[in-house]
Formats: sequence, C-alpha cells, structure tokens
Amino acid sequence: MARYTGPACKLCRRENQKLFLKGERCLTGKCAVTRRGTAPGQHGAAQKKMKEYGIQLREKQKARRYYGVLEKQFRGYYTMAEKQEGVTGENLLCILERRLDNVVYRMGMASSRKEARQLVLHAHFRLNGKKATIPSIILKVGDEISVREQSRDNAKIKELLADLADAKGAGTAWLDVDKANATAKVVALPKREDIDFEVDEQLIVELYSK
Ligand code: SF4
Repeated sequence: MARYTGPACKLCRRENQKLFLKGERCLTGKCAVTRRGTAPGQHGAAQKKMKEYGIQLREKQKARRYYGVLEKQFRGYYTMAEKQEGVTGENLLCILERRLDNVVYRMGMASSRKEARQLVLHAHFRLNGKKATIPSIILKVGDEISVREQSRDNAKIKELLADLADAKGAGTAWLDVDKANATAKVVALPKREDIDFEVDEQLIVELYSK
C-alpha cells in the first residue's frame, strides 16, 4: 500500500483525536479537530455507533497514523511485540517509540514525525557515529544519535538547532538529550507511562488476535 499523501488533518478528524501530524499548527486554534471536531465527509457530523471490530480497527489506524507507519510494517511490529516477554500492546508501543524518526521527533529536532522522517532520509543524522538514513530503524538502549557535522551548516538544520537549544522539554524519561551538542541517547526502554499517546493498545491486540 502506498503512503498516504492526502490532507493530514482529515486523518485526525477521522480518529476524532489530535495526532499531531502538522507540527506547530497542531498547537494553535487552527487545528481542524479543535475547529470542526467532526469526521470528514458529507455525513461526518452524524454519530455512528460502531461495532466491536470497528472500534478495534479505529484504534489500530489511529496508532498507525500517529507514528506514520504503513500497514505491513505495523503488522511486522506487532509480530515482533508478540514474541517478546511482557504485555504485547505495551511492547508494540515500546517498539514504535524507538523508531529513529520518532526518536528524532522526541529529541526535539523536528516539529512532527513527518518532518523527522524527512530529516533522516536526507542523511542529517548519525546513529552511534555512522550515517543513518532509514527512519524505521529501531533503537536499542545505549544507542546515541547526533546531527552530522556536514549538516550543521545547512540553513534548516541551523534553525532547528537554535530551536532545540531554546526548547524547554526536549527528551523524555527514556531519552536523554544533550541540547548543547544536539545528541540524544536511549537510556532505558520506554514504559507505557512515558508515552503520552491516548490509545488503547489492548484493542489493537484484540484486533490482530482474531
Ligand atoms: Fe491533526 Fe495537527 Fe491538523 Fe490538528 S492541526 S487536525 S492535530 S494534523
């Protein structure tokens, strides 16, 4: 399946939740979920009662869109999560959080996951000292990312580095960010309580367990 290239706000309206797909705009009054708050389409305002399958499907789509992952890839992460010890739903979120594009976003170097993905694809980062251009790489505890020296003269990167230096809440409990040097290190596996995403991951597990 091809990557979705339509209006990002439509996806949030479909899930009736902010998925933070457009960076700064998502934090303003221009956000379509705040302004309109109905599903897209002619009958979007009509309240539809969903059956069990529909509810589970929506939860999976929400998570997939939030992290910008294609269906096949998402299914692959689920299979990975199922094989790990512990709670499958939480394992799934822990894997998604450690994708390189998400780590760049959590680090504070991008205003959205989409922007983070672009920065990675344009080879602006190093992972453990080596050039990294694959947004789907899953980082491990101890992995460190940094901005490539060659990229520090790039106008866009300069702007992002200045924003990072001024940022108040860069990083998370599991991601230690050195704002001055623009590096970030995974210091622990993300726990459920560290992930500020409103999703019922158990419903995703139920959907895939059918
Ligand atoms: Fe979603 Fe952001 Fe658009 Fe709001 S502005 S609907 S959060 S993409």
